[in-house]
Formats: sequence, C-alpha cells, structure tokens
Amino acid sequence: MTASDQQINDLLTQMTLEEKISLTIGQDMWSTHPVERLGLGSINMNDGPHGLRKPPENSSIGIVDALPATCFPTAAAVASTWDVDLARAIGAAIAQECLANNVQIVLGPGINLKRTPLGGRNFEYYSEDPVLASELGVAFVQAVQEHGVGTSLKHFACNNQEFERMTISAEVDQRTLRELYLLAFEQVVKRAQPWTIMAAYNKINGIYATEHKQLLSEILRDEWGFEGIVVSDWGAVNDKAAALSAGLDLEMPGPALNHVELLADLVRKETLSETVIDDAARRMLKIILRGLEQRQPAASYDQAAHHALARRAASESMVLLKNDGILPLRPVAGSRVAVIGNFAQKPRYQGAGSSEINATQVDTPLEALQAWLGEHTVEVTFASGYDHDGNTNEALLNEALAAAKDASVSLVLVGLPDAYETEGADRTHINMPAGHNQVLEAVAAVQPHTVAILINGSAVSIPWLGQVRAVLEAGLAGQAVGSALVDVLSGTVNPSGKLAETFPYDLVDTPAYLNYPGEAGVVRYGEGLFIGYRYYDVRKVKPLFPFGYGLSYTTFRYDQLALSASSIDDATPLTVSVTLTNTGDRAGKEVVQVYVKPTKSSYLRPVKELRAFAKVELAAGETKTIELSLAARDFSVYDQQRAAWRMEGGEYTILAGGCSDDLPLVADLTVNEDPRSARKVLTRMSSIKEFLDDPIGAELLQASAGAFIDGQSASTRAIFEPIPLAKFVNFGFFEPSQVDEIVAKVNQG
Ligand code: BGC
Repeated sequence: MTASDQQINDLLTQMTLEEKISLTIGQDMWSTHPVERLGLGSINMNDGPHGLRKPPENSSIGIVDALPATCFPTAAAVASTWDVDLARAIGAAIAQECLANNVQIVLGPGINLKRTPLGGRNFEYYSEDPVLASELGVAFVQAVQEHGVGTSLKHFACNNQEFERMTISAEVDQRTLRELYLLAFEQVVKRAQPWTIMAAYNKINGIYATEHKQLLSEILRDEWGFEGIVVSDWGAVNDKAAALSAGLDLEMPGPALNHVELLADLVRKETLSETVIDDAARRMLKIILRGLEQRQPAASYDQAAHHALARRAASESMVLLKNDGILPLRPVAGSRVAVIGNFAQKPRYQGAGSSEINATQVDTPLEALQAWLGEHTVEVTFASGYDHDGNTNEALLNEALAAAKDASVSLVLVGLPDAYETEGADRTHINMPAGHNQVLEAVAAVQPHTVAILINGSAVSIPWLGQVRAVLEAGLAGQAVGSALVDVLSGTVNPSGKLAETFPYDLVDTPAYLNYPGEAGVVRYGEGLFIGYRYYDVRKVKPLFPFGYGLSYTTFRYDQLALSASSIDDATPLTVSVTLTNTGDRAGKEVVQVYVKPTKSSYLRPVKELRAFAKVELAAGETKTIELSLAARDFSVYDQQRAAWRMEGGEYTILAGGCSDDLPLVADLTVNEDPRSARKVLTRMSSIKEFLDDPIGAELLQASAGAFIDGQSASTRAIFEPIPLAKFVNFGFFEPSQVDEIVAKVNQG
C-alpha cells in the first residue's frame, strides 16, 4: 500500500457519512468541498481549454470578468496545425498559468467529434476525425499533467450538438460509438490518464451521461482502466443517487440543493449503499490530495513568452485555401494596401461561452498590418465594411470601395460574427452574414488583387471563391491573431495548416443533414460511421475543400512508400516509410497523412480512414524519409456481436499523401487473422446460410438435413437460407435440443 493509499484510508475512516458525501459535491462554482475538521483543503478547477478562465474572487461565473490569461488558438485551430508538439507546448503553458493562479484542474480539452458543421461548440473541439483528435488530446493532457495540473476530458460522450444539449438523447449504435465517438476518449484515458473526465449533459441511447453505468463504470473504468474522477458537466446531474451508483464522483457546481442530507438519508434507509459513497469519496480524496500536493504558491509565468507561443501556434494553424501566387505579399514602397472588414479592428479570436478568456493582450490585424507595411513605406487604408453583427449599408460599402479601388491589394476579413458560434446554440446554416459576402463581392469587383481572410471557428460556404486571388483560413486564432496573420501574409511563416474538418459546398451535402437536430428529444446518428470525409468518400460527394487540405508557399513531392512487411498479424506493428521532398525554393512544413483502406470487408466500412500522421519541416530542396507506425487496432472494426475489437484479415491498401483526396503513394498489405477470431459467433437465430458458411456448421447441417438441403432448387434455397436455424423446429425438421447442440458445437470451434 502506498503512503497516499494509507493516508486516504485514514482520512476516510475518520469521516462521517455526511463528510464523505460532501466530497462528492462542489463547495461552490469552482472548488471541491474541504473537510476542515480533518485538515483537508479543497482544490480549484477552472475552465479551459484554450487558456485559463478563472473568475475573480467575488464573482461566480466569470465569463465577462475573468482574470487575465493567455488566449491560445481554439482547439479547432490547434487541430489544423496537426502538430502534437505544439499542442504539448500549449498544454505546458496553460498548466503554468494554472499553477500561477492556484488552479489544480483545467477543464479541458474538449475532444468530441464534429458530426455536423452546425455544432455550436465545434470551435472548442478538434476534428471530425477521431485519430487526429486523439493524438492532440493525448499530447495536451500529458503536457498539462506533467506540470502537476490535472485536466478534465470533456464532454463524455456524444455532446455533438448544442440543440437541446441538456436533454437530447444521442441514439448511436455500439460500433459507431466505439469506432468514432468514444475513440479519442479511450486513447486519452489509456495513454494520458486525465485526472478527471467530464460527463456530458445529454443522454446517450436514452440514459443521461451522468447516470450511464455502461459508460462511466464498465467502459471507462473496467475496460479502459481510468483512475481519475468523473465530474459532472456544470448542472448535468439529474438524479444524484443514480449518478453516484453509475460511477459519477463529483457533482458540479455546488453546494447543490440539499444533496448531502438527501443522500445520507438514502444510505440510512439502505436505498443507497454506503460503499458507493465510499468509492467516490476515496477517488475524490486521491485527486484532492494530489492537487494539494502539487500546488506551487510561488509559481508565475512569462506573459510575453506565452504570447509568443500563442502567435506561433496561430500562424501554424492558418490554412491557405487558395493562392494564385499573390501570397506571400511583396510590399512595394510607396504603394497602398486596403484593409477591409470590421474584424481587422475588432478581431474575433475565440468563441463564446465557458471557454471565453480575458486575453492578456490582443494583436489586432489592422495594427499588425500597419506596423509591418509601414516598415516598407506602404500606406494602409482601412474601411470597416460591415458592423459588429455583420450588416453592411450603402455608406459602409462606399467607404470600402473607395479604399479598395486604386490600392495595389485589398485584404478583406470576413467570417462569422460572435453570435454565430457559441456554446449553447447551434448554427442554422453555414453561410457568412450577407453583409460580409456583399462587401467582399463588391470589393473584388473593383479590385482584381483581392485576398480574403476568413475568421471563423467551423466550416463555412464560400460563394465568392472564384472572385478572389487568395483565401487564407485564419480560424479563431487566439490573442495573437493579428501578428500571426502578418507572419503568414508576409511569408515569415510558410503556411502549413491543413483542414481538420471538411468544408462542404452546401449544408445539404453534409453527413448528418437528414439526422440533425432530431425531434421528440432524440437525435438519431443515422449516418453511423460516415461522418466527415468518411461520408464524402462513400457517397462520392465533392466537398468545397476536403479534410486534410491546405496549401503552402512551397511544393512537396511524395516519392516512395515502403512497408516494413507485406503481410502482418496482430502481434507485429507495421512501419510505414514515406519519402518526401521539398521541391520549392523556401523552407516549409508538410503534414504527411496515412490512411488505411480495406479492399473487401464483411462489415460496412469507410472507404479509407486516417490512421497516422506527422508534421515535418523541410528546407528548400531537402528530402526526408518519415516513419509512421500502424498497429492491429488500425485495421480493426468493433464487432457488435462479439462486443470486441476484431482485426479483420484480408487485403488492404495503405495510402499516403498530403490531403485526404490526394494520396499519391499506395502500397498493398495482407493482414493475417487467426482463423478462430474470424469465425462468427452463431446463435439459435443465426440463419441457415450463416451455419452453412461455417465449416463446422456446414458439416453438422449436412449430417442432419443434407438430403433436404441438397435437393432444393436455387430459388428454394434463396428462400430458406435466410431463415433462422431455430425456425427449423417450427417446420418440424429438428428438435429444439438438436438446434442447441448444433449452436454449441459451432461456437466451441
Ligand atoms: C460547459 C463546460 C464547462 C462548464 C463550466 C458548462 O456549461 O459545458 O464545458 O467546463 O460549464 O464552465
């Protein structure tokens, strides 16, 4: 027994029932309950995930008046860096700010998948792809926790929309849950052990996440080995006793209603077992003691260094969507550049809601452009073009046109205003405000050198794409947005971001279109495994910009794909080597993406799935060979009948390249599967055909009903083969015991 186990047990045995229960309810909005009598303090947990949001002492919510902190790029923007080291660096910096502010747990990262571009919190989530979300989540959590601060992985699970977020039931089949919606949670739990995981508001298949025993106990703890505490999203508990029994440990915020008396009463009446309280209290004590131990009262952080990191991250996150050569800009002394758009002066750099940070400083695009262009004696004319809500009018349009007309270049910032992207509400369309589009189209009509800069946290449709020379997706890039924009526009930073989310032409093209937002309290995930590129691939729907897409100021050539073996089994990991050359004349970074494509499958499978990636830096002319590793899970499906993962044997293709729809390198691979695990589990209700397809089943049926089976015409066989074996009893061919015997023998193997 470790010293702390001893300490925990000592504390627990000294506690009254009420004291133990009090540990399972926050003392206020942001901290755990202390037990002063026993010298046990409390720990603080505050919002992230893009920086620290800590309200001042006398304020409870702190959305508008939080203490200053560095506002890093939103998760959506971090994801488009595809850079795990950068996610790690941001995690370390946020941990440092937590330590300096006496915060023991930061509430993040959010790793839900983007099922629909309409999701109001998409800016807070990484990607539509679970592997990209996993890798970034693991890096962030490890980095924060290595510094002695805990994380809260959220929102577990299926918080993929804000519409009716506190009541909606996400109806998802088990395979889709495992392969998509739980995958990033699984990976982060197994590889980074977050101190806490946050149970979502919504229901999953009819059961509130906070009361979901299968999720909170069977999968999270028993299967994945989670060692931390499950905290409710703020206000997500509906039935506290049911929640504790399902595996929840901490209800937030507190002090909630009269839950201590209520629960103590249930225990006394033996309606709720005291063991349930003890288990939660023990887990709470472990995390509270860890948090208290790791406090660093003297900690501080370097604001300037964190701002510089926010700038680096922002510039790495920007995705160049179109460029006919106008970028990078080459300032010509004595010329004039028009900067148009209210966002240039009042940039949006984060989304609204609980993740909103009171930034330590904000680099506005206008000031940053003025400073840079000023150094080159280029004049900048600014026109706001539209107001805060995205509306324009004749006067604003005329001002924008006057600025644009005889400038050498127009930079137009457009995108989504605050109200479009917020926690608590989904979008209803993927359009930018009409005012933004109007200004842009008017400017492009008079100014042939127009560059559009997009400020948004999720996919938008871009109706004027053909009318501009370049489009830079700047995302919600955090407090250094302005200087980072200059870094990219000037070419100081060569853009290397790639879309972590598909951009569709139209909302009707999107995967969940017919199954969102649900009705009568239920949203059916009818598209199943086919979200993001998995959907566009299989339906052959051409998106505006595919997943993984992004241009650079240099060019790359993919040369060679080598596999460490031409066939594998489940014990041998596979090394994939990709040779890449920077064929341009400036240094740049490329995201090498590796996808796995099954040739044939007995399951309904996506055409291909991202399984590994790496961000690589290459000097002009440089060639590098990058090694990535694939393991059994990368070829596996979750078999619902077996309730287990299965690495399906057969032929596969490994694809590599720089974008999901441009994968020039291809190699074939054979996956060998143990024939025993390939065999189906058959039941009394499995069909005759399934028994005939099984070697033992075929033998047994032949022995008992061979004459009947063989004597049938093809059309009669087509009728009886789909019939469940047990129905042969109804038709008088078998005794019930014969059916049981056949089933048992087949499954014994
Ligand atoms: C959000 C969480 C957040 C919590 C505390 C909830 O409304 O869903 O993400 O951490 O509030 O602010």
